[in-house]
Amino acid sequence: MTHNTIKIGVSGCLLGQKIRFNGEHKFHWYINEILGDYFEYVPLCPEVEIGMGVPRKSVRLVGDLNHPEMIEPVSGKNWTQKMHLYSSKKVQELSDLSGFLFKKNSPSCGVFRTKVYQKNGIPVANGRGLFADTFCKHWPLIPVEEEGRLNDAKLRENFLERVFGYHRLKILMSERFRRGDWVKFHERNKFLLLSHSRTHYTKLGQLVANMADMSPQDFKGAYSKVYILDVARNQTSQ
Ligand code: SF4
Repeated sequence: MTHNTIKIGVSGCLLGQKIRFNGEHKFHWYINEILGDYFEYVPLCPEVEIGMGVPRKSVRLVGDLNHPEMIEPVSGKNWTQKMHLYSSKKVQELSDLSGFLFKKNSPSCGVFRTKVYQKNGIPVANGRGLFADTFCKHWPLIPVEEEGRLNDAKLRENFLERVFGYHRLKILMSERFRRGDWVKFHERNKFLLLSHSRTHYTKLGQLVANMADMSPQDFKGAYSKVYILDVARNQTSQ
C-alpha cells in the first residue's frame, strides 16, 4: 500500500457532484476546502450506481428499523434488493479506505438517526441508510462520520484522530509481524491514548505485555478493536 496517501470514501454529492434526486449537489465547504488537502477522496453514489438516474424520484426507508425497505413513495417501486446486492459487492472493493464521510439523512448514505417511515406514515429517526449500513457492518473498524456532525469540534476531532490512527494501524498490519514494531507503535501513541482514556491505554498495554501468549492474528485483532472502536466510543461518550 502507498503509505502516504490516506483514502477516504465520500458521498459524491458532498464533493459538489450534481447527482442528488433533484439534480443538485450538497457541496460541503469544510470537506472540500480544508480536509481535501489531507486526503484522497473516493467519491461514490449508491443510487446512481444502481441505475436510479439523475434526476430521479426520491426514495425513503420504510418498515423495520433494523431491516428497512427502500421505497419510492410516489410509485411504490421497491429498490431494496438492488441496493443490497450492489452494496454487499461494492464494499468488498473498499479495503483501501481509512474512513468514510457520508451524507446525513439519506436513505442510502445516512449513518446516524436516518428516518425510517412507519405504517402510520410517521418517521422514526433511528435508522441507517442501506449502503452505509452494509459498509459499517463489513468494515467495523473503518471510521465513519456524517458531514453534519463535522460542525461539532469534538466529533470532528474524534473522527480525524480515528482516521489517522486507523491509517497508521493499517500500515503496521500490512507489514511483517514484528513484536518490537507493535511495542514502538504503542509507545508512540502513549500520550494520544492517555489524553482520551487511561483505561484503554492500560488495556492496550496489557495486550502488548502479553503479546507472546497470543497468535499474531489474535493480537492484531484484539489490539485494533480496542484502539479504534473502544477508544472512539469512549471519546464520543465523554
Ligand atoms: S445516494 Fe448518497 S451520494 Fe448519492 S446523492 Fe444521495 S446522499 Fe449523495
